[in-house]
Amino acid sequence: MKMKWRMALALALAICMPALYQGASAEEAHADQVISHILGAKSAIIDNAEGAASDQFVFLAFWDFDDTILKGDCAGGLRIDDKTVYRGLTELAIESGYSQIYDRDEGLARFWKDYVVLEENIGPWISYPFLPQMLRGSKAKDVSSLARNHFEDVLQNYFFKSSIKILNALEKNGIQNHVISASPDIFVDAAASPLGLPKERFNGVEVKIEDGRLTEEIVYPVTWAKGKVEKLTSIVAAIKRQHPGKQVIVLAAFGNSYGSDGPFMKYVVTRRLPAGKPIGVMINGGAPLESYQNIFLKVEQSEVLSSGQ
Ligand SMILES: [Mg+2]
Repeated sequence: MKMKWRMALALALAICMPALYQGASAEEAHADQVISHILGAKSAIIDNAEGAASDQFVFLAFWDFDDTILKGDCAGGLRIDDKTVYRGLTELAIESGYSQIYDRDEGLARFWKDYVVLEENIGPWISYPFLPQMLRGSKAKDVSSLARNHFEDVLQNYFFKSSIKILNALEKNGIQNHVISASPDIFVDAAASPLGLPKERFNGVEVKIEDGRLTEEIVYPVTWAKGKVEKLTSIVAAIKRQHPGKQVIVLAAFGNSYGSDGPFMKYVVTRRLPAGKPIGVMINGGAPLESYQNIFLKVEQSEVLSSGQ
């Protein structure tokens, strides 16, 4: 009964004061809170440092991609209530004739059958790498251009408003955003341009490219669960080598899945900073697994960039 009243009130507000209602959207109020936490930690670290100089530091934030920055999944698409909202790049790549295993005309059904068996009977550690692997032999530039077009035409409309707000605010304040995704690297790289970030900041499951063509050879680590921690630490180590004498500090981690993102997010929030605290933001993550109780800020997001989506 209580819920019905709230819904009626919300509806009345939505009808009477559309502008005010949108502006006061309660569920997305966390973006400002997250931004001020992170900028607060950054300031505390600089204030605490000798000479209070910001150029002694490189500040970083790490993001999952699918269902964290993008509503839905760039490889798998987005379905709501059995209705396709948008299609994923895996299907589009097969239909474009980029898989030698699954032909463009009849391969799609067979692909999904195989994929479900790999994922459910064995696990993501074998099914995720299989996505770029089954494109072996295709030209990297063809797959890249398919992905770039799909981001430009469709996917960029489904970036979460709050994630983009946070990401842009961090970037503007000198905090580098990096993405570690379990989708194919060649797909997530195509998000660089619409997000206005360098392509090098995007890391997905990667296969070796030889003579311009994808191979089935995996470039480890597979960026899923513990593999995301490994990737994160190797990125931090590489940035340290590029900036000798500076301290590299990870201020924040963002994800949507305890299974896939929990490990790297926990790694980030359990580091000790010279001042302030790191934050892990779990987006639409549901009930936490036992080992992740009370360590992340849990938020809900649904609004996407394009109006009317
Ligand atoms: Mg995700």
